[in-house]
Amino acid sequence: MNRDLLRRLAREHGTPLFVVDHDLLRRNLAEFRRWLPNVQPYYAVKANSLPEIVRTLYRAGASFDVASLAEFHLVYENIRDLPEKERQDFIWDKIVYANPIKDPVTLRTLDPYRPLVTYDNADEIRKIAKHAPHAGVMLRLRVPNTGAMVELSSKFGCEPGDAVGLIEAAHDAGLTVEGLSFHVGSQTTNFQNYVQALHLAAGVLREARARGFTKMIQLDIGGGFPAPYDQNVRPLRELGRLLRSEIRRLFPRDIAVLAEPGRFIVATACTLVAEVIGRAVRDGKPCYYINDGVYHTYSGIVFDHMKYPVKAFRKGPTQLSAVFGPTCDALDTISLAEPLPALKVGDLVYTPNIGAYSHASSTFFNGFPPARVAHLNYEG
Ligand SMILES: *Cc1c(COP(=O)(O)O)cnc(C)c1O
Repeated sequence: MNRDLLRRLAREHGTPLFVVDHDLLRRNLAEFRRWLPNVQPYYAVKANSLPEIVRTLYRAGASFDVASLAEFHLVYENIRDLPEKERQDFIWDKIVYANPIKDPVTLRTLDPYRPLVTYDNADEIRKIAKHAPHAGVMLRLRVPNTGAMVELSSKFGCEPGDAVGLIEAAHDAGLTVEGLSFHVGSQTTNFQNYVQALHLAAGVLREARARGFTKMIQLDIGGGFPAPYDQNVRPLRELGRLLRSEIRRLFPRDIAVLAEPGRFIVATACTLVAEVIGRAVRDGKPCYYINDGVYHTYSGIVFDHMKYPVKAFRKGPTQLSAVFGPTCDALDTISLAEPLPALKVGDLVYTPNIGAYSHASSTFFNGFPPARVAHLNYEG
C-alpha cells in the first residue's frame, strides 16, 4: 500500500489503524480462481471476519467456510438478495460449516437452514442426527501436516482406516454423506502435504463408492494456501498446477471440488499503522512502545506463529531496536531486534501483510480496544 496514503489515513482516522484494501481482496480471490479454476473458494471467515470483507468477497463470487454460530450469522446476514425459494440450495452453495465439533445448541439453530457440516467421529454423528437431522455431512479426514506453520492433525480428522465405517455409520443414522474434507494446516509450504491428502481422500472415496455411497460428490480440500509473505514462498501458480493435475488423475469427473482459503485471500490485503507512544534505552538498546501489540493486531505472534516486521516512515541509519505493545504484560513484545531508525514519540510505524489471524483475534486486554478499521476501495 502507498505510504503517503497510509499516513494520510492515519491522520484522518487516528491510530492504531487497520487498513483493508478491497481491491487487493478481489485481486487475491481472482488469483486463486485463476490457478484453481474448477475449485469453488469458500473463504475461511476466521482468518478475518470483518463484515465488509465478507460482503466484498461475496460480491466477487466467493462462498464461505464458517466454524461457529456467530460466523454463520455474520455471513448469512451479509449476503443479500436471497431468493426465498432457493434458500436451501443457496446455503449449501455458499456456506460450509467446517468445524468438526459442534455443540447441541449450534446444531439445533443451524438445522432449519439445512446446513452442510463436517464431522470426524461417532459421537458427532449421534449429535448431528439428533439435533440437526436436516444437515448434510462431510467426513473430515486426518492428513499429514508436516511443515505447516499451524499444525492441526492432532486435533481434527478421522484416521483414513476408520473413514468408510464412519460413512456407513452416518448413513445408518439417517444422514446423507455428501463428501470428504481435509485441511493440511495453515501456510502450507510443503506442497506434498496436499498430494498425500488427495491420495488418502481418493482411496476413501473409491472404497465408499464401491460400497454404494454414490451421493459422495464433494471434495473439500480445505485451506492452507500460503500467502506470499516473502520471496521463499512458492507461488500459488505452482501449487495450482500440482493440484489440478493430481485431482484430474485421482478423482472421477463428477466430483465437485471446493477449498477453504483464508490466509491467502486476506493476508496481503491489510496493513496496520501504529504510533510510537513512548521510548526508552535499556541495556544500550532503543526500545519503542507503540499503541498496538500482541493482545491486539499483532496477536498472530502468539496464536499464529508469525513474526511481523515493524517498518518506519522516517528515514535514517537503522539500529536494532525493541518494539513493545502498550499493555503492562511482558508477553506484549512485538520484536526484540527490529532494524529501525531513531524514532520520536508521535512517529508512525507500519506493518504490511497483516490481514490474516490478526484483527480477528484482538482482545480488550488492559482496557485497550482493537485497532479501528479503514476500508479502501470498498463498494458496499
Ligand atoms: C482455519 C481453517 C481454514 C483456513 O486456513 P488458511 O490457512 O487460513 O487458508 C480452512 N479450513 C479449516 C477447516 C480451517 O480450520
